Amino acid sequence: MKQRDVTNAIKKIEAAETEEELEELRVAYLGRKGELTQELRSIGQLPESERSQRGKTLNQYKKRLEHALQQQREQIRARRLETQSQQAVDLTRPGIGPRRGRLHPVETLQYEVIGLMQQIGFQVIEGPEVETDWYNFQALNMGPDHPARDTADTFYLEDGSIPRTHTSPVQIRYMEENKPPVRIISPGKVYRNEDEDATHLWSFRQVEGLVVDEGIRFSDLKGTLECMLKGIFGEDTQLRLRPDYFPYTEPSAEVDASCMMCSEDDRDERSRCQVCEGTGWVELGGSGMVHPRVLGNVGIDPEAYSGFAFGFGLERLAAVKYQVPDMRHLWRPDLRFLEQF
Ligand SMILES: [Zn+2]
Repeated sequence: MKQRDVTNAIKKIEAAETEEELEELRVAYLGRKGELTQELRSIGQLPESERSQRGKTLNQYKKRLEHALQQQREQIRARRLETQSQQAVDLTRPGIGPRRGRLHPVETLQYEVIGLMQQIGFQVIEGPEVETDWYNFQALNMGPDHPARDTADTFYLEDGSIPRTHTSPVQIRYMEENKPPVRIISPGKVYRNEDEDATHLWSFRQVEGLVVDEGIRFSDLKGTLECMLKGIFGEDTQLRLRPDYFPYTEPSAEVDASCMMCSEDDRDERSRCQVCEGTGWVELGGSGMVHPRVLGNVGIDPEAYSGFAFGFGLERLAAVKYQVPDMRHLWRPDLRFLEQF
């Protein structure tokens, strides 16, 4: 190795960009079989007069190369650290705020209804979502051959149990355990074996109310419904009860509320109204006086006690309140829709 070779080697070292390249160069010159190492080893073969001088020169070369390697290694490391820290933290960047969650509109409404009913003394009671035939049908005056079973669109599990078609089984379970006075609401999920469309879902939420005591009359039902619906839809809301039939109540009534979107004074507005389709009334749910046979089924004397019950689909109430034309929108996980509420 000559002076010139050493200068070239140092140039190569200073041009190295990675620690791997640097290591290759170190091995090439100073490794066990490196150029300079080999030359140092062969000193013994030189004539004795040259050995000492050559040894000193080669050791100087070695020191220069080692020094250059060390310097370049430090530079590469410093450069790498700088890049890493630039990538890792940019203290001047604006922060990313966490997205705030909120309640689903149907859930908001459920809490609203619960709050309203608690104010007038109702207790919230929940029950199992999978029921026996007795609790879902028979105790509610729907025997094995009752025609109303056909309209209930029931799912059956393999063991014959039933994902409840309404929350009414909760009423039965509660009355079995508790003597009158009874004043409860039971919110929860129910299941129907039917095709979904804009006004039907195969799984939805109901909220049902039940009052049983001495001397409970139809006017108590009407007053309670009025209180609830005015609370949900506003003080101006009118209530209309239409005769209907349900197996578990007698007499039974369909519950309508006056349309909150259009007014009687403006005929044009009313005729275009999508909420009531121009009728001025919106159908909301069912109600009635508890059938004496249902009271008898849970051991309450129908001669001494009477009661009323009502039930609403929460999605239906939400669709009316928030003017959602298709209830299926409510449970699609689409934030563009949900963030409007
Ligand atoms: Zn209307």
